[in-house]
Order: sequence, then C-alpha cells, then structure tokens
Amino acid sequence: MTQPSCTGPRIGLGFDLHRLEEARPCRLGGITLDHPAGHSDGDAVLHAVTDALLGAAGLDDIGTLFPDTDAANKDQDSAVFIQAAIDAIQKEGYRIGNVDIVIATEGPRIAPSRPAMRERLAELLGIPTNAVNVKGKTLEGMGALAKGAGVAVQAICLLMPKR
Ligand code: MG
Repeated sequence: MTQPSCTGPRIGLGFDLHRLEEARPCRLGGITLDHPAGHSDGDAVLHAVTDALLGAAGLDDIGTLFPDTDAANKDQDSAVFIQAAIDAIQKEGYRIGNVDIVIATEGPRIAPSRPAMRERLAELLGIPTNAVNVKGKTLEGMGALAKGAGVAVQAICLLMPKR
C-alpha cells in the first residue's frame, strides 16, 4: 500500500566543501570576497542551499542535476543551480519559508560580509532578508580547513506548501 504524500512543511539540509585556491575570486553567498577560492564559481553557500532546497522537496541533489563531469557545469554561475532548485520545488507545490546557513572557515572573515550575503541570498531566493541567516564559524585550529585550505557550509531550509 502506498503511503499518503507529505503535505505539510518540509525541512532540508545541504552541505558543501570547497577548497580555496589561489588566483580565483572567492564567491560565497552570492557575493565576491577579497580572498582566493575553488570549484565552478566556488560558491559553496549556493551549492549547499541548492541541496537543502532539493532535499526538502524529496528531489535529486545538485550533483545529479548538474554533474561536474559535464563541461557545461564547469565555472557555471551558481545562481543557475539555485534557480533550477526553486523552479523544481515550486513545481512540487512548495515555497521557501526560511534558510539558515553556517560557514565554517579560517579563510575569509564572514562577519563583515553577512549583511551583503543575506541581502543577495534573499534576492536570489525571492524571500525577505529576515528569512535568510548566515553565520561564520572558525575551526578552533583543528584540521586542514583550520589552515585556511577551504570552506565548509551547512544550509538548512524550511519549505511551506504554497497555499
Ligand atoms: Mg560545490
């Protein structure tokens, strides 16, 4: 017997890890930071948020929709991934309630860029600025990330039924 489908709010979690590389601009949370960075346009925040949205709607993940083996996805603007996820969740009958993000890094300092990130993310997601939050965390001197090698991002989102 098939189970009835979930019709209430749905929660989704996304995670991404990017290496910081010299000679590339550091894109995080839809803005450019004055710090070097990595893969595609390097925006681990937008990748994690994309996965959180897709996960909440019970859809595929970013790697399945946009495989990094496809040359078209190399250096792709991460806003394209976000828009694809928004289109997909809307098709499932959901809208975004809120998104919360943790960026763990000892590379760029996050605090000074929080307001700009929240504003840009809200714009990309089509939700109010107070429905997006961003927090920076340091690694307390532990592991390779603590040497400034990369950024790890967790994003969680709540989807609400559209009506
Ligand atoms: Mg990524």
